[in-house]
This record gives sequence, C-alpha cells and structure tokens, in this order.
Amino acid sequence: MRKIKHLIFTSVIWGIVICCGLTCGAEEIPLIKIAKISGFQMLSANSFGTKSIVFAFKDNSRIFTFKKVLMPLGFPAIKRYGRYYIDSSDYRYHIQPLLPMTKHHHKKLKIIALDAGHGGEDNGATAQWDKLQEKFLTMDVCLRLAKLLEKKGYKVVFTRSQDKKVPLPERTQIANRAKADLFVSIHFNSAPSASASGIETFTLTPSTQASSYQTASRNAHENFVGNAFDSLNIVLGYCLQSSLTARTLAIDRGVKHSTFVVLRDLKCPGILVECGFLSNREECKKIASSAYRDTLAQSIFDGIVKFDSLLSD
Ligand SMILES: [Zn+2]
Repeated sequence: MRKIKHLIFTSVIWGIVICCGLTCGAEEIPLIKIAKISGFQMLSANSFGTKSIVFAFKDNSRIFTFKKVLMPLGFPAIKRYGRYYIDSSDYRYHIQPLLPMTKHHHKKLKIIALDAGHGGEDNGATAQWDKLQEKFLTMDVCLRLAKLLEKKGYKVVFTRSQDKKVPLPERTQIANRAKADLFVSIHFNSAPSASASGIETFTLTPSTQASSYQTASRNAHENFVGNAFDSLNIVLGYCLQSSLTARTLAIDRGVKHSTFVVLRDLKCPGILVECGFLSNREECKKIASSAYRDTLAQSIFDGIVKFDSLLSD
C-alpha cells in the first residue's frame, strides 16, 4: 500500500513538473540536438557551426556569441555531465532566427522611422569636457542616416525634427501612424565609470523572458504589441550590432534586451542603438568628430540594408 501511495505521489509530482514545463515553455534542449536539427556539427562541447558561422555558449551564463557578436540569452546555458542545455525559449527567440536556413517572411522595408533620442529641455547625456549634448548628437546621426536611406529609395519619418521634447509614447505613435516598417532610435551612452565604452543595441525583451539587467526569470513582463516581432528584432539587432562594431572597432557590448517605452507598442520591428559613451574621454573624442558620426550613420545604414535583404514577402 505504501508503495502504491508513493507511486501515485511521484506520478502526480512528475505530472505537475511536465505540465509546468509545457505551459511555461520551461524545457531544456541539448545543444547537440540544436546543432543536429540545424544541420551543423558540434565544434566543441559548447559550440556548433562551421569555421565562419560559430554559435558559442558559456556554462551557467547568458553569454552567447553568433559570429563573434555578443547576443545575450534570456536564461543561462546549463552544463550537466559535460553536455550543454539551452532553454527552449532561447532557442526560439535567439538561436533559431539566426540560423542561415531560417526564412523571414515579412514585408520588405519601405518606410523607416528615425528617432533622435531626447530633445528640448531633455538634453540626455552631456560630455564633461566639451559640453557635447546627446540630444544634438542623436539628431546629427539621424540626419546623416536619413540622407543615406533616402538615396537608397526608403521613405524616412522623423519622430522629432527640431530641438523639442517629444514624450516617449508619442514617438512610438508617430512611427505607427506613419505605418513605418522599421523603427530605429539613436542614443549615446553615459556611465558613472569613465572607463565604460563601446556600442550596445537594445531590442524589446522577448515574451516570457527577463531584460538583460534583470535576473533571469519567466514571464518577467507583460506582453507588449512589439513582442509580435521578437524573432525579427533579434535578427535586426545582429545586423546593426555586427555592422557597427566591425566598422567602428568599438567594444561590442552586445544586443541587449529591455522593455524601453519607445519599443513596447511598435507595430514593426524596432531597435535602440547606444552609439558610444560620452562619459569615456577617448570615445567621446571620436564621437565629437563628424567623420566618426558619418561612420556611425553608414554602419547603421549597412545594418538596415542587410536586415532588409533577409526579408521576403
Ligand atoms: Zn539617451
């Protein structure tokens, strides 16, 4: 009797565990299985791909690199008995979209919304040494980028064209009202530590995952309109981050995830680019030069064109 009771108890517990796993999507997939279904070879216990396309993971860490670009996961890769396991939501949002065989069925880009961060009484970050203000730099890069996009035949919509404060939700609405196919928000960074430098991009935190600055957890935020583009946003993030870091040689701080207000309710893929630290003397010196801001605009442009080339109606 005791044995039967124990059996029933264990079955109920396993039932609950499996049900929770299915409803929360909390399933771990062996990395070796991901490599196999993707048609790739394992390169080591924690990486798969080819010589030029490497997907690499780190044990008990959310660090994941694709072609050497830092693309943080929602959950840590787990190493157990020498094998690596990836959360199923990470496969879905962060790995599968980057596989060369994945087709991205989405309309080609026509209208692109550019969002120059800050404006008016909101100066954004200010460089200590030469009083450079973020709000002017973001507008400067947006204007350079718009020229390149318009030359290529894209229609550009600005969320602000003057030095005025536009509330964050209004910026999203301007893009949505214009039926933008893509939203790119431009910012410059600042940190208490003067040594912080490099470029990072942000996409909306994928559904059921936590933002990059939060501890990994499930269902960490409500679902937003913009979550309809989770997979495309990751591809967009890779295209821009790889182009920016390759051209500028700035430190790659990764494609991070946050529930920024401007990204939440977008009806198209969207991204926020932090183009470098005004609080870092060396990086600020570069940002102050118009040639470097041209390079930033050109890199973002190349990333957008690359992203567009991956879309098929
Ligand atoms: Zn900013």
